[in-house]
Amino acid sequence: MSRNIVIVGGGAAGYFAAANMDGLPAGVSVTILEKSNKTLSKVKVSGGGRCNVTTSTDQVGALVKHYPRGEKQLRNLFKAFGPEQVRAWFEQRGVALKTEPDGRVFPASNDSQTIIDCLRNEAQRLGVKVQYGAAVQAIEKVGAQYELLLANGEKLMADYLLLATGGHPKAAAYSWLTDLGLEIEAPLPSLFTFNIPDFPLVSLSGTAVPNAEVKIAGTKLSHDGPLLITHWGISGPAVLKLSAYAARELAGKDYQFQVLVKWDASWNEDLIRNWVADNRSSQAKKKISNSPLKPLTQRLWAALLEMAGVDGEMRWADLPKKMANKLINSMVSMDLTVKGKTTFKEEFVTAGGVKCGEVDFKTMQSRKFEHLYIAGELLDVDGVTGGYNFQNAWSGGYVAARDIVSKCQG
Ligand SMILES: Cc1cc2nc3c(=O)[nH]c(=O)nc-3n(C[C@H](O)[C@H](O)[C@H](O)COP(=O)(O)OP(=O)(O)OC[C@H]3O[C@@H](n4cnc5c(N)ncnc54)[C@H](O)[C@@H]3O)c2cc1C
Repeated sequence: MSRNIVIVGGGAAGYFAAANMDGLPAGVSVTILEKSNKTLSKVKVSGGGRCNVTTSTDQVGALVKHYPRGEKQLRNLFKAFGPEQVRAWFEQRGVALKTEPDGRVFPASNDSQTIIDCLRNEAQRLGVKVQYGAAVQAIEKVGAQYELLLANGEKLMADYLLLATGGHPKAAAYSWLTDLGLEIEAPLPSLFTFNIPDFPLVSLSGTAVPNAEVKIAGTKLSHDGPLLITHWGISGPAVLKLSAYAARELAGKDYQFQVLVKWDASWNEDLIRNWVADNRSSQAKKKISNSPLKPLTQRLWAALLEMAGVDGEMRWADLPKKMANKLINSMVSMDLTVKGKTTFKEEFVTAGGVKCGEVDFKTMQSRKFEHLYIAGELLDVDGVTGGYNFQNAWSGGYVAARDIVSKCQG
């Protein structure tokens, strides 16, 4: 009996699903419908062209903590097919991988094309067809099948359907799914850096601080990690993580808010106050500018002194109390005005999408529609940077594919 498996979207999730459709009985075809004229385009540009394919964080409890949305639901998915399985999958197919000290996993070639070639070879080996310029506009359930209407007017029937069309920051892009009856969480951007016009530290652009804490003033939302001073504001893992966890709150503020920066996450006001008091007595005759507290660089320390109005030539014993207070404040709670956001190396993801409750994460099948599956960023799942977004895409694609194959075999 001939049956059609149709995958909508030739990105990471869709292609990985296609590459895992082995074991199908004769007469079952697999087709990827891709709206553009190329597949895997995000994989190509990902990780600055190197493709941060996954992470070395294998323990499921720790792994799901990297997903501001989807944490609970992903547990089942990652138990079935997690980063360890992803690494093994690529390695078994001849892709050498390497893990960087921060846990990010890349192809040893440092070239995303290695990942693309591997996926293409697998899909080709399995006889997967790819139809380009095939933008699905509407889906209708007709009996046990799905009728797909393409933008060019063409109609196609599918016995099994996997939706893997990725994220989109505009709600209108999901109307064909709401029309079908799927519930959507309002989409908005995640993973961005903070713009600070008139940034007082702009001359330090390029300076990295190893473990700062960034907090949104008036909230409990804060994250720590490396922070990078840029020519437009602040960036780096601490900022990107905060942008992801606070994506909804920050959209609600139209990206206009105050952040408080502590230049080392382990500091607190008492500790810095004591350090200043101690320096006043033990370093009394020393120039303040010559004794930055680690991990502040000499240049960042000089800038903090200047902002507190402290003359670089001043000695610790002469530091007036008011200036000392200002200095302490700029060390543990520098108040910066954010006006707008910028994408980080063009890398971004969508928070929101098909609500997690629509899908059984053990199979990635829709709870409402039999034989309809959803995977990847189209779901209301997104991770922070570090290979977590591809991991979601690979895992969802794999689990959906294996469930479809086993149903076709049964
Ligand atoms: C510049 C950049 C760099 C990134 N780098 C990394 C990284 O290094 N590591 C990491 O983990 N994550 C990274 N990400 C995030 C990651 O790329 C995505 O999370 C991931 O690609 C999502 O996979 P997906 O298959 O769900 O969607 P996508 O990869 O976006 O694929 C969706 C596909 O569906 C097609 N499509 C859309 N609508 C339709 C339709 N109606 N009909 C037919 N086809 C349709 C699209 O054209 C696209 O080809 C990066 C993102 C960007 C933008």
